[in-house]
Amino acid sequence: MCLMIPPIVVMLLMLHLLPEIQDSSICFLTSKSWITLSNTTQVPLQIVYRHQNLFHYFPALTQALESLFVLEGIKPVSQQLIHEPDLHQIKGFCQNMGLGFASTSTGGSWHLAMLSHNQETADHALFYAAIGNHQRLGETLGYPPCCVRNYLGNVKKVASEAEYGLLGSLRNHEVPFVMNYLLRSADVSILSHIPCSFDCSSSLHLAEKAYACVQKHHPQLAQYLKQHLSGPIVLHDQGVHPLRGYSRVDDRIYYTNAEQLKESAMNAVFSRCDNVHLVGKNHLQLCQKNHVVDELKDNVRFLLFS
Ligand SMILES: [Zn+2]
Repeated sequence: MCLMIPPIVVMLLMLHLLPEIQDSSICFLTSKSWITLSNTTQVPLQIVYRHQNLFHYFPALTQALESLFVLEGIKPVSQQLIHEPDLHQIKGFCQNMGLGFASTSTGGSWHLAMLSHNQETADHALFYAAIGNHQRLGETLGYPPCCVRNYLGNVKKVASEAEYGLLGSLRNHEVPFVMNYLLRSADVSILSHIPCSFDCSSSLHLAEKAYACVQKHHPQLAQYLKQHLSGPIVLHDQGVHPLRGYSRVDDRIYYTNAEQLKESAMNAVFSRCDNVHLVGKNHLQLCQKNHVVDELKDNVRFLLFS
């Protein structure tokens, strides 16, 4: 079976994943054998499950984690885009682990694959993707109904996760770090779906269970994820800007480095500045000391993951 993946399916997969994988500038965590914690300690990157290191099979951290969540019964199905050269070994891994595996070519050198506890569920998920039944696909993947509904209602209005993140309500700008799905393009995420809002309690429940699973299998990797997913992020319709080395003084967030995830005209401005002035809920000033270099209004949100 060969199909053209409908746009919504790719969106459910996280829209950017395919082009980002093809971008050789992206360095996947699993291309390394070690991870470095903030205290500069280096620890081996491995999750051994029934004598197999998951990172020998899966090229991306998020893929390895999602497969772990299926093995541990936290997720019913993991939907993944697999590059042709990795397909055979991942299929073999699933067979060895007794997982169901179903895949289909997307037309290029990529395959849409479903990994599940049983073959029938993997087949069903692939079938729903093939016929474009996104409601059933979302349910089969175990995404919370509120998030599936919200996604279907909004997907045509947005072109990126950054824009999606601007939708929906937010009680305040402090969000549990496990809900940070905005760094998935850097292959760092615990959630595998886009929550209906940063306040979604069903998504938080799933994310906490998944994080506890990582803690159980690889405490240092859990620490690494927490370090990377925590901290302030400025989100606007053109991009996502994590601010590293931050400190807060009243309504100013000082930072030493603004991470660049994607090409954005704002990257150079964030690099030039050293603090963000929180003027209002949808109004930020990018400053160099007290000098205002640029402003973001309306389609902007400040989030503090902790
Ligand atoms: Zn939700």
